Amino acid sequence: MTRLMHRSLITTPPVAVAARGIEIIDAQGKAYIDASGGAAVSCLGHGHPAVLEALHKQLDQIAYAHTGFFTTEIAERLGERLIEGAPEGLEHVYLVSGGSEAVEAALKMARQYFVEIDQPQRRHIIGRRQSYHGNTLGALAAGGNEWRREQFRPLLTETHHIDPCFSYRFQREDESEEDYAARAARSLEEKLTELGPETVIAFVAETVVGATAGAVPPVGDYFRRIREICDRHGVLLILDEVMCGMGRTGTLHACEQEGIVPDLMTIAKGLGGGYQPIGAVLVSGKIRDALRAGSGFFQHGHTYMGHPMAAAAGLAVQETIRQHGLLDNVRAMGAVLEERLTARFGNHHHVGDIRGRGLFRAIELVEDRASKRPFSTERKIHAAIKREAMARGLMVYPMGGTIDGVRGDHVLLAPPFIVNEIDVDRIVSRLGDAV
Ligand code: PMP
Repeated sequence: MTRLMHRSLITTPPVAVAARGIEIIDAQGKAYIDASGGAAVSCLGHGHPAVLEALHKQLDQIAYAHTGFFTTEIAERLGERLIEGAPEGLEHVYLVSGGSEAVEAALKMARQYFVEIDQPQRRHIIGRRQSYHGNTLGALAAGGNEWRREQFRPLLTETHHIDPCFSYRFQREDESEEDYAARAARSLEEKLTELGPETVIAFVAETVVGATAGAVPPVGDYFRRIREICDRHGVLLILDEVMCGMGRTGTLHACEQEGIVPDLMTIAKGLGGGYQPIGAVLVSGKIRDALRAGSGFFQHGHTYMGHPMAAAAGLAVQETIRQHGLLDNVRAMGAVLEERLTARFGNHHHVGDIRGRGLFRAIELVEDRASKRPFSTERKIHAAIKREAMARGLMVYPMGGTIDGVRGDHVLLAPPFIVNEIDVDRIVSRLGDAV
């Protein structure tokens, strides 16, 4: 019996004992292709020599120094590197240990910003239904996934939710993409009017929606409209790129493809590539300046923020991606993956949609392809696919989400950026058998 209270308290997962490249090996010697990078984490695969070397070197030099006393060279270098790659306007970095911590920090920073600039009446956060921003209570409140939240009410933060922007499900038949994007963005305007825009701190959204809906890209100029609405009302825009960021969609940041810059952006997962727990908030100059001119500090902190080992992993992952031109491979292999998924599932009776960007792709599983009617919740299709895929030596990330009160099933793929065409073929072939 396991003494660990991790996920299921009923079943025990296989014991992972080794990992190299795109495979994880269990105690029985069975190999699994890591086609989901865990949860879109392992962007360089496993055991990458450049990252291991950097970690060994850092461990020899200094493993830990509390940020209340010191900064470290490695954390400063990572900060420089992240800002070099950030969209113009994001000028500072706040390092934490994971995605939920990054979201919590961003929400608190947004709130403190308005206190510093003398607008303490701003207190509301607006998110989107069907969204996930982490499991700590603030992040959970910002998220709009009812089934995750209901057991934990009352939540601790005042939040409100608008509809997401999912063309595959909510775009009307007689509606163009642009009209749909405009209608989806308008729901933010309506929510601001309802709450009083002067009482709202921020709107938070994932640029490309990950786990809860399965690699759903935004439609048309949705985010340009959202940016304009936020600006007009002085509301901050927080983009959560914990899952879709750090190269996953083919550009370092997913928002580059939308032509907008948020005020705060959260990143994690692929930032450390699984070699160390790390997350960060990229912060606009305007927010940092207001905090500096006001209190002179950000009223927040964690014991392990800026951890040198995490920073070493983050920097090594970023250098490796750059040196090996891996974002080009994400785009090229992303196109191959899309093509292979379409060939295998394009006419499948139970596949209602194939979508995504770069190496961030999903198939939507439906009872009936024509009407896109989802499977009933009781069938637990996503769990069955995970089981069947694991039996065939394939790790994918299936989820059953709630869409408009109806659960739907999808399978998310987020393989390491180092995959080649043969790997992609093997992934799609095993997934096909599992489905
Ligand atoms: N935001 C998004 C978009 C995520 O996908 C996740 C993790 N799935 C989180 C936040 C939370 O990150 P973590 O699990 O590292 O706390």
